[in-house]
Amino acid sequence: MAIMITSECINCGACEPECPNTAIYEGGANWVLGNDSHDAISTDTYYLVAEKCTECVGFHDAPQCAAVCPVDCCIADPNNVETKEQLDAKKEKLDQLGR
Ligand code: SF4
Ligand code: SF4
Repeated sequence: MAIMITSECINCGACEPECPNTAIYEGGANWVLGNDSHDAISTDTYYLVAEKCTECVGFHDAPQCAAVCPVDCCIADPNNVETKEQLDAKKEKLDQLGR
């Protein structure tokens, strides 16, 4: 299951440097996967790219963004449920493409 950042985000920036997959971006910032740059998904608050979020599988025992968020707005995305195997595969893809 990928994590999502809700509209409760207060733009503190604590989560971004903690993400091992560089899946978190400041509002308005383009997101990057491999050599490709994409338009920002949110302009108002920090956002998270589900395509790059492995729930920290392969790096940590628990989602690091959720661990540091002061307002607990990094939550499991009910519309993006993935198995451990799918998350492992996502990590492998990121290993190959670059983050
Ligand atoms: Fe990044 Fe981990 Fe948060 Fe996903 S759960 S956005 S991989 S810090
Ligand atoms: Fe927003 Fe939480 Fe990240 Fe701070 S740690 S930028 S409040 S999602």
